[in-house]
Amino acid sequence: MTLFQIAEPGQTPAPHERRRAVGIDLGTTNSLVATVRDGRPECLPDADGRVMLPSLVHYTPEGAVRVGEGARLALMTDPEHSFKSIKRLMGRSMSDVMQLRQALPYRFESGEGVPRMHVPGGSVTAVQVSSEILRALRGRAEAALGGALVGAVITVPAYFDEAQRQATRDAARLAGLHVLRLLNEPTAAAVAYGLDRRDSGTLAVFDLGGGTFDISILRLSRGVFEVLATGGDSQLGGDDFDEAVACWILDEAGIKAELSTGAQRHLQGVACQVKERLTEHAQAEVRIELGREAVWSGCLSCGRFNELIDPLVDRTLRACRRALRDAGLEAGQIDEVVMVGGATRVPRVRERVAGLFGREPLTDIDPDRVVALGAALQADVLAGNKPGEDWLLLDVIPLSLGIETLGGLVERLIPRNTTLPVARAQEFTTFRDGQTAMALHVVQGERERVEDCRSLARFELRGIPPMAAGAARIRVTFQVDADGLLTVSAVEASTGVSAEITVKPSHGLAEGEIERMLRDSVAHAAEDMQVRRLREARVEGERVRVALEAALSADAALVGEDGERITAARIGLDRALAGEDVEVLRQATAALEQACAGFVERRMNQAVARAMKGHAIDQFAHGREED
Ligand code: ADP
Ligand code: MG
Repeated sequence: MTLFQIAEPGQTPAPHERRRAVGIDLGTTNSLVATVRDGRPECLPDADGRVMLPSLVHYTPEGAVRVGEGARLALMTDPEHSFKSIKRLMGRSMSDVMQLRQALPYRFESGEGVPRMHVPGGSVTAVQVSSEILRALRGRAEAALGGALVGAVITVPAYFDEAQRQATRDAARLAGLHVLRLLNEPTAAAVAYGLDRRDSGTLAVFDLGGGTFDISILRLSRGVFEVLATGGDSQLGGDDFDEAVACWILDEAGIKAELSTGAQRHLQGVACQVKERLTEHAQAEVRIELGREAVWSGCLSCGRFNELIDPLVDRTLRACRRALRDAGLEAGQIDEVVMVGGATRVPRVRERVAGLFGREPLTDIDPDRVVALGAALQADVLAGNKPGEDWLLLDVIPLSLGIETLGGLVERLIPRNTTLPVARAQEFTTFRDGQTAMALHVVQGERERVEDCRSLARFELRGIPPMAAGAARIRVTFQVDADGLLTVSAVEASTGVSAEITVKPSHGLAEGEIERMLRDSVAHAAEDMQVRRLREARVEGERVRVALEAALSADAALVGEDGERITAARIGLDRALAGEDVEVLRQATAALEQACAGFVERRMNQAVARAMKGHAIDQFAHGREED
């Protein structure tokens, strides 16, 4: 197998004009944006120097949207409108959502189709919530790179099915991002390690994040990657370690009562801290405060923690063995194991992965950043910044694709782990005399029966000429592009009548719905409002600053003992004016006005005194108005 050549539309840019392209790791727990500068990938920090953007979104009562660290407090104070791990809901139907293990604190609107969650002033879908995270990263990148982006490579778990990939694309589109490509996270990590520069080898990428686990087996030969197999569990991650610790705490504390959502989140937060502390320490103190009376403290040892998480680690190892089997390899045949995802910092995970593969895993690159860095390298290539390297890596299809046949059985057209892009066709026939239409039901999954697989789409082929049962020949073609998006077509051989569907998965968004959301999404309205508020607060802040400067140059002598306070407040305002936070800006403006109160009063008194001395009263009043 060789590299798949894809030339991006458009010309190769002149060497001096690099196209701004980024890689985005849209994580369940944390999201990052990275770009290539001076030939090296780097993660872009926010104004406070943090590269990890917690994947948290809060819709405030005032209709604003807060993303990242600023939304964390709201997880406890306003859980119904603050979204955490939204990636778990991407591309999910209402019935999928009901099956999730965690009780979700959101208020879902009743009705069919894409689950919608209530927020102040309306409702939002998981796609919209995710788009807020992407929008924040896009803003960060555009500020850092000084202009609009040509596009982004966004990473997704290898396990993501059609609906989840489509939802990710939709979110990017809502955020105003052009998707150069969706890239599997483990593949991105392999790129970050530059393993394409090696001669040959077989590689396992073990990615344990907050909410998803992926294992990928890759083979390298002379700079070419081939994905041999992927596997994992889209419902397993560091969050489950937290949950195990939380259960232990409740057990130890003897708490049996149902917890409020706020209390649950507090417990989760404590559990997460304890877990992360145990990465560096042999034991960790635990203290929870569930209301005034229910305070409990204790201590969790590393040994006990390992026992708690071992069943979860077992699950990751089982998935590894399965992927190895799919790839036709023994654990000992793997030359390198790459660790990805924050949860691979847990020593027990490293130890047991090392045990399975019989070698120490690679951990040189920060496991939190490695995916974003690899995505940035791909984005750089796809944007055309590296002429002559317009290649893409091969990916495989994560789950088999097929069609429903008589008796509710699945006929598989494309088996899982088939390399992308791919097209496969198969002939079907009618089963009733004179049958003029055929219903096609596209499904994804490994099971034999339709009800055990995931329904992707249904469509009909009409206008089949009436024939005896079994005489019609209907050719059904499945085509999957490099991003893993599927088009299914059906053609009747004698007449050429055809029908086609680009799988808009039944849990994704309809085309029209996206357009509508683009036009009038709650999020946009909120953003517009936010922009206006910020602008107004800026104008007000500037006004106070300019007024102060004028006053100082006229009457510096009257400042007196307020000098220090005024200077401090002025520095505070300058800082707030450089930032984007409306509240901070308003407070800083108010603080400066307050600091100046004495000075202003003294000036006023002096002005009045002067006016009374030399000028007519009406002149003075006129001047005041103009002020
Ligand atoms: P995702 O890919 O799901 O966004 P990340 O790769 O950012 O997730 O990993 C997040 C997970 O890693 C969380 O469960 C977090 O608690 C865990 N984690 C981060 N740092 C540590 C650490 N030092 N020790 C143990 N777990 C950690
Ligand atoms: Mg991740």
